[in-house]
Amino acid sequence: MRYRASALGSNGVRVTMESALTARDRVGVQDFVLLENFTSEAAFIENLRRRFRENLIYTYIGPVLVSVNPYRDLQIYSRQHMERYRGVSFYEVPPHLFAVADTVYRALRTERRDQAVMISGESGAGKTEATKRLLQFYAETCPAPERGGAVRDRLLQSNPVLEAFGNAKTLRNDNSSRFGKYMDVQFDFKGAPVGGHILSYLLEKSRVVHQNHGERNFHIFYQLLEGGEEETLRRLGLERNPQSYLYLVKGQCAKVSSINDKNDWKVVRKALSVINFTEDEVEDLLSIVASVLHLGNLHFAADEESNAQVTSENQFKYLTRLLGVDGATFREALTHRKITAKGEELLSPLNLEQAAYARDALAKAVYSRTFTWLVGKINRSLASKDAQSPSWRSTTVLGLLDIYGFEVFQNNSFEQFCINYCNEKLQQLFIELTLKSEQEEYEAEGIAWEPVQYFNNKIICDLVEEKFKGIISILDEECLRPGEATDLTFLEKLEDTIKHHPHFLTHKLADQRTRKSLGRGEFRLLHYAGEVTYSVTGFLDKNNDLLFRNLKETMCSSENPIMSQCFDRSELSDKKRPETVATQFKMSLLQLVEILQSKEPAYIRCIKPNDAKQPGRFDEVLIRHQVKYLGLMENLRVRRAGFAYRRKYEAFLQRYKSLCPETWPTWAGRPQDGVAVLVRHLGYKPEEYKMGRTKIFIRFPKTLFATEDALEV
Ligand code: ATP
Ligand code: MG
Repeated sequence: MRYRASALGSNGVRVTMESALTARDRVGVQDFVLLENFTSEAAFIENLRRRFRENLIYTYIGPVLVSVNPYRDLQIYSRQHMERYRGVSFYEVPPHLFAVADTVYRALRTERRDQAVMISGESGAGKTEATKRLLQFYAETCPAPERGGAVRDRLLQSNPVLEAFGNAKTLRNDNSSRFGKYMDVQFDFKGAPVGGHILSYLLEKSRVVHQNHGERNFHIFYQLLEGGEEETLRRLGLERNPQSYLYLVKGQCAKVSSINDKNDWKVVRKALSVINFTEDEVEDLLSIVASVLHLGNLHFAADEESNAQVTSENQFKYLTRLLGVDGATFREALTHRKITAKGEELLSPLNLEQAAYARDALAKAVYSRTFTWLVGKINRSLASKDAQSPSWRSTTVLGLLDIYGFEVFQNNSFEQFCINYCNEKLQQLFIELTLKSEQEEYEAEGIAWEPVQYFNNKIICDLVEEKFKGIISILDEECLRPGEATDLTFLEKLEDTIKHHPHFLTHKLADQRTRKSLGRGEFRLLHYAGEVTYSVTGFLDKNNDLLFRNLKETMCSSENPIMSQCFDRSELSDKKRPETVATQFKMSLLQLVEILQSKEPAYIRCIKPNDAKQPGRFDEVLIRHQVKYLGLMENLRVRRAGFAYRRKYEAFLQRYKSLCPETWPTWAGRPQDGVAVLVRHLGYKPEEYKMGRTKIFIRFPKTLFATEDALEV
């Protein structure tokens, strides 16, 4: 006798979880926990490959979504797709970003708990695209707020502006985010988006003055030159050709086939007005963008005493005008350094090299502070109008984190050190929260929790961030000894202080065999994701991020309103040293972790399939690296430590009731009792499953597969 279950779920959506399982040889399993050999990395990658070949870019590890960048438009983000994923159970539909989006949103609505979606992966893996699709999903499917409907547009329009100023073409990604971003979306008690807030992390400002071959400066420069109106360019004293600007020619690739700067300019201009920029503010902002280009073209010549003199009078004229600074003071500041000795201020002339250094430092400071200002400006336009009203308390928050993944290059410097430290922190949080939620579910279901062995990377976080003994503390200490300390004395101090740490190594500390692979100016950290060797060159300079005092003073007196907000006079009177870059970053990370800890997490792990940015290519070596860096095997192990599969009694019964005469066609009693009868009929052994309060837990995939196969008979 054959009993047939309906292939349709309660909402008419095909129950594809199981139908995909039956086709698992071709398309793999849609949840890695169903892999028979779950500890095998090869099996993991093979599953990814099968799915990728079928254009199935999404796969779960329990509640975690793994996504492989298809590098082609798969037409899977339409309004229809959004509708398909609304209100359905996570497992009833094929894995999709929108399934996560909807699940998170429903949890926010029903449990009224703040949520955070953390999106990680290396450059080009698809983090920013995923973030944008999520925002789009909420903008299109959530109810409109009663008032202040413009917030929805502003949330969406903040993106092109931030991307123009914070993204650039790199070798890895034509639209690479050069900053980390955390965005909160606030919802009112009816579930309508009413406000937002953005935090940005560590903009890669060195790009303003230098780009590697094949890379570009930030998009905004090219957009302005390509798309800016004649009159605007005339006012700014700019020529259309990017080749005319030294800050734009270093990478030798002003034109990129995948980028339409002219079009993007229009998008950005429109977006600026949506996020409340007045025409005056746009002018002030563009004046700053143009100033940076002029600064790049500002030349110096040496006088007979080898002191630098400004020689580019035309650039200088535009600079003073656009920045609204006094010509004489600015000229002096560009070529002299103010030193205070014995209470007296002295002016010391700069040589050519020093003047170029000071000029570049100014360009970087001007640009990065403008970026920070821009984030603040966007935040003001996103601020919920209800923030002061009593209903404020009833808002819930959904956070989206789009932040750089683990980075290992041929040459790793201060930037990679910061980024990888950030990933250590997030990995720590991830393990902590994943274990916690697993444990909570077991407890809620009344099932005994069996402790899981896992690698706790706290030891590496401590190595970097601990007071006095941590790498950042030691670096800061060296930064306090100007003139005496160098990158190499920093390295020596590291060697003296840290010595025998299982995760730290230098040439001197290494044994004979490893020594060969370590240069004298390098240190190596054994991260959770693997070894990374950092060159100490530039660590002190980048951490100090020095801008000469008289240049700061000049900028504080700027009549450009944006500049005067970016350079505040209080900075000058402040006796205390400003925090170093690494310490600022550390503090912002601690704050971020705190924010994330207070929310219910959801994870999207993005993978880049090849380095050529091409569709259809699955580069196994590259993917294996990412599976490792993302800690996916560890994630799967934790998830599989207990049970591979768990499902609500109702759903399980509905699916398999046709396999048992007592439950078919309907079971009149409690679903839980129906399931008990059903699995006994199917011959499940006691060690194969557990009955929780609302769910059945099945230990091995093979049990489930056998049941599934029975349906097909
Ligand atoms: P970075 O760290 O450099 O900012 P990222 O992870 O944010 O990288 P994205 O900019 O999101 O990477 O993606 C890189 C490119 O890959 C996109 O410009 C787009 O062309 C393509 N891409 C990413 N995700 C998808 C997707 N889901 N569908 C189609 N194409 C995609
Ligand atoms: Mg990005």
